[in-house]
Amino acid sequence: MNEVERCIIVGASHAGVQLAFALRTAGWNGDIVLYDRDPLLPYQRPPLSKTALSGEGTMKLMPLKPEQAYTKAEIDLRLGCSVCAVNTAEQSVTDDGGRKTYYSHLVLATGARAIVPPIQGSERAKNLFTLRDGQDVNRIRQTFNPLQSSRVVIIGAGYIGLETAASLKKMGAEVTVLEREPRVLARVTSPEMSAFFTELHRNHGVHIACSKNVTAINEREGVQQVCCADGSAYTADMIIVGVGVHVRQELAKQCGLRVHNGVVTDSQCRSSVPNIFAIGDCSLHPNAQYQRFVRLESVQNAVDQAKVVAETLAGRCARYEAIPWFWSDQYDIKLQIVGLADGYDRVFFRDESEGNTPSFSYWYFRGMQLLAVDAVNNAKAYVVGTKLLKSNAEVNLSRLQDLNTSLSLDALIAS
Ligand SMILES: Cc1cc2nc3c(=O)[nH]c(=O)nc-3n(C[C@H](O)[C@H](O)[C@H](O)COP(=O)(O)OP(=O)(O)OC[C@H]3O[C@@H](n4cnc5c(N)ncnc54)[C@H](O)[C@@H]3O)c2cc1C
Repeated sequence: MNEVERCIIVGASHAGVQLAFALRTAGWNGDIVLYDRDPLLPYQRPPLSKTALSGEGTMKLMPLKPEQAYTKAEIDLRLGCSVCAVNTAEQSVTDDGGRKTYYSHLVLATGARAIVPPIQGSERAKNLFTLRDGQDVNRIRQTFNPLQSSRVVIIGAGYIGLETAASLKKMGAEVTVLEREPRVLARVTSPEMSAFFTELHRNHGVHIACSKNVTAINEREGVQQVCCADGSAYTADMIIVGVGVHVRQELAKQCGLRVHNGVVTDSQCRSSVPNIFAIGDCSLHPNAQYQRFVRLESVQNAVDQAKVVAETLAGRCARYEAIPWFWSDQYDIKLQIVGLADGYDRVFFRDESEGNTPSFSYWYFRGMQLLAVDAVNNAKAYVVGTKLLKSNAEVNLSRLQDLNTSLSLDALIAS
């Protein structure tokens, strides 16, 4: 059994690294052991489909913290090291080197892995990649040669698929995006936003094809074809699959934790076993604002949950009550989303574009309740939307639609 206070964190990405440092800030004096199977110094993931891929930034990944910071904060960082087993009775983990380490508290920050769906021939396909970690980006960049013909087919038009399309287009690729649903971003946003992003990509020369169910990847005489159920086929020198993720919840299952597309936690990120927590992409947690359980894939969620666990372990009362937000960069478009729009029954549009640069926002409501705001190149709408969501105040809808009313909390709150 563990004699000392030791927090073991499995996963050294946005959630795990934030937690390790936040524990020190919160005054935790016990040991901190931080594992990741990835051998690279923990790095930021959002740039992977953006600047790290397009080469605008350097090929180097952006570290979450400099290497010395871990030593200084007395964080025992074990990289290239997978945790394979947890023994909850004796409170220990065992890594792939057979080393056993005891914990007083265990935090699962294991995130998710990219899915490759069952597509006939995908296991033999040449230059087929997913995009989840730094090594994926390195492989894609090494394979991609803008001097040769580079026909890239991206399967899946979610945020990662579309950001990847924009980045590879900038690198000179001929890009086709195949989406099974009738519109891009169908799972995550409204038809209006889907239409905007479709047009944006088409204007940049990306071929977007929806209602395309990819069923096979065939190769004939050295030419690779991505084939769809409707008989269409697309030649591909490179294929990138961006159809979503599976939660890494094997360890949680092994521990006997409640799991349901994510490790089920309470508002303190505590799992069904009191000294085991789950944070970040792998956690399914209650959201007070929307009164349901959600699993979010966003940096903000990972960071905020880590702070809650650090406060909790330091003996203070903290709850995760943040309003979800997310961003996406494609070409010169910055999309900021606050809140969760699903279940909306009406949407209001505000266009504040000047010249050729679009700047607008969509405001999603259920009845009189504001659910979410999508802001395109419009930081003000995002900030005011966030404040309105936090205040839970009723919005004056006629003022919201009146472009002569400036975007401010005072102006938009119904009186
Ligand atoms: C290409 C890309 C672009 C993105 N863009 C944005 C964006 O613009 N905005 C935004 O908000 N979010 C974005 N995200 C999502 C964001 O990066 C994730 O929400 C965030 O990384 C979640 O952090 P996490 O620590 O929970 O999980 P992850 O980042 O998935 O990290 C989990 C870590 O756990 C490790 N691990 C798992 N199991 C074990 C084990 N048994 N032993 C040891 N280590 C283990 C894994 O190796 C991994 O490093 C993007 C993600 C990707 C992939």
